[in-house]
Amino acid sequence: MSTIYDLHTHSTASDGTLSPTQLVLRAVAAQVQGLALTDHDTLGGLEEAAAVAHLHSIHWIPGIEISVTWNSKTIHIVGLNIDPSSSELQAGLSALNNRRANRAVEMGLSLAKHGIPDAFEGASKLSNGDLISRTHFARFLVQYGYVPDERQVFKRFLVAGKPGYVPGQWASIEDALSWIIQAGGQAVLAHPARYKLTANDLRRLIEIFRTLGGCALEVVSGSHSRDDSLSVAKLAREFGLLSSAGSDFHDPKTANIEVGRLPALPDGCVPIWQNWGKQLPTIPQI
Ligand code: AMP
Ligand code: MN
Ligand code: MN
Ligand code: MN
Repeated sequence: MSTIYDLHTHSTASDGTLSPTQLVLRAVAAQVQGLALTDHDTLGGLEEAAAVAHLHSIHWIPGIEISVTWNSKTIHIVGLNIDPSSSELQAGLSALNNRRANRAVEMGLSLAKHGIPDAFEGASKLSNGDLISRTHFARFLVQYGYVPDERQVFKRFLVAGKPGYVPGQWASIEDALSWIIQAGGQAVLAHPARYKLTANDLRRLIEIFRTLGGCALEVVSGSHSRDDSLSVAKLAREFGLLSSAGSDFHDPKTANIEVGRLPALPDGCVPIWQNWGKQLPTIPQI
């Protein structure tokens, strides 16, 4: 069987619906060999997930997905093999999450102005006191019947020009890369095809990312079509970057996205995990 690495997943520590334990068990059941939990802007799920992963023969990769504002757009940088005890990383994320919490209050006010009361309270409840994201607001809007499903939410609410939209002010790309590198991790530009950048802007972003020490592009992603993957694979080759793969799993109910269910990297990609062999868990000899 081929090796399955799923290097982009979420738990309840951010906006996923499975606990870290449930996520790891789902990955084990799916015969995933290497799993990274990469919650948005929080390390909160890593300890629990690591403890469960270590009970199974799965290669555990501690990760993060950092929100970045670049060129007035939100982009995501995944960090893999980060040390969760890094004080630089922790301090950076904590500042980011203060801003995230303030944004959530403003989102609630904006929705109230548009006739939707109590959204902040509802979204906070759904986030269980962990990190609060637009996803929690989206779930609130669906649960209370304002919108039929989450996809529709991101068309009618919470996006630029629509009720509930408050732009995030996230990390600079320089800071995000520096936190990941200081934590001993490898930086991956997440789902590059999703940002709807012009071809020129995407190349400019990749060049900056590489100059700052970025390692890999996420070539295979749950949010990429096969054509997206092929064009990102081309960019990875051209810029001499490694390739990563991740489902971006959030919720078992999301159609077509499952932990470990990923197409192979296109030909010619150099997988980011190519030198991780030494870190594979050793199976005790009895
Ligand atoms: P935030 O970091 O709070 O801005 O929330 C962003 C999260 O919202 C993403 O990580 C996705 O999980 C979710 N999201 C954003 N856009 C969409 C979309 N079009 N459809 C479904 N979920 C989305
Ligand atoms: Mn998310
Ligand atoms: Mn993302
Ligand atoms: Mn993600």
